[in-house]
Amino acid sequence: MKAYKAHKIFTGTHEVTDGYLVVDNNGEIVEVTTTKPEKATIKNFKKGIITPGFVDTHIHGFAGVDTMDGDIEKYRHMLVRLAQEGTTSVILTTVTSDDDHTREAVRKITELLYSQGPDEAKVQGIYLEGPFISPDYKGAHDEKLLRELDIKFVEELQMLSGGLIKKITIAPELEGAESFIHRCKIQGIHVSIGHTNATTEQVERAVEIGADFYTHVFNAMKPFNHRDVGVVGAVLNDKTSWGEVIADGVHVNLDAIKILLSQRGIDRTILITDSMRGAGMPDGDYELGGLDVVVKDGEAHNVDGTLAGSTLILRDAVKNMQSLVSLNDSIKMATYNAAIAHSINGVGLLAKHKAADFIVFDEELNIQKVYINGELINENSKSK
Ligand SMILES: [Zn+2]
Repeated sequence: MKAYKAHKIFTGTHEVTDGYLVVDNNGEIVEVTTTKPEKATIKNFKKGIITPGFVDTHIHGFAGVDTMDGDIEKYRHMLVRLAQEGTTSVILTTVTSDDDHTREAVRKITELLYSQGPDEAKVQGIYLEGPFISPDYKGAHDEKLLRELDIKFVEELQMLSGGLIKKITIAPELEGAESFIHRCKIQGIHVSIGHTNATTEQVERAVEIGADFYTHVFNAMKPFNHRDVGVVGAVLNDKTSWGEVIADGVHVNLDAIKILLSQRGIDRTILITDSMRGAGMPDGDYELGGLDVVVKDGEAHNVDGTLAGSTLILRDAVKNMQSLVSLNDSIKMATYNAAIAHSINGVGLLAKHKAADFIVFDEELNIQKVYINGELINENSKSK
């Protein structure tokens, strides 16, 4: 047994001062305690901070690789790099494409899942973003490939992946949304409202039927107006569904996030990156969903100027949020909330029987070490 001592341990739900994270030899957490464990070898990180590994549930790409690449070796490279940056679990997110391309990406991710390496971020599922979205709020998705709701295709993908599809974004104003949402629920797929020009009533109706997420709140949805509160108004009035937010300070002004949190609280908010392949890479020319993207000063745009994903890393999202909320709440939104919203049971919380996926930070919140299943995985660490 091993125990990791640090000045602060953030479990994902609460904070412990001068505690020990106790891990068994199988890489499972035994407990977080302030009592010195007798039988464990103790590693003392002194003034360090321990948090769960971050759980990014909306991520298109990183380190030059995209979810749509359909190449297992490339996926591995992305997942290793993500883990080194503290993102130890992901839900890989597709982007609007033609059906064959999407099928192939889903097939390859499924294949990868059964041979994941010990130093890779864990793939916890697949999230379909597009093609069933509104051309009015398409964002960086290719308009030519948007189409009508097609539950048969979603069911086919769910079968192909053996149940890996966790969530799908739809615009609820599309024809047949009610039965589509019902059938997604039967398939165990969460429906997220996004890229939408729906009326407030259409959003509320979708939630009544079972949609329970909002895709990157504020981005690519009908904005708030005091005579027509739009999709954003429906989000602000809905205290039970989950809302994702991109906290890079570019996609959403931090004051807007402040309004969101003061209205809905932090318990139903999830920090995401929505990052694309240019994240974790230098500025340059990239691609998202078949469309050219230029990354300049860390901002990703299509040629028409539309934001095309982010270059955010979840650990930076957590840092950015600190001007609005406590560090504990910020971490909670990037770990525990993300995990429970998607019923990912083994991670996102430092507690008994969870996987020992955790990060050790220094006092300035620089990553020192990353552990997956109790094993140190990042190369930058100075010593075990
Ligand atoms: Zn999007």
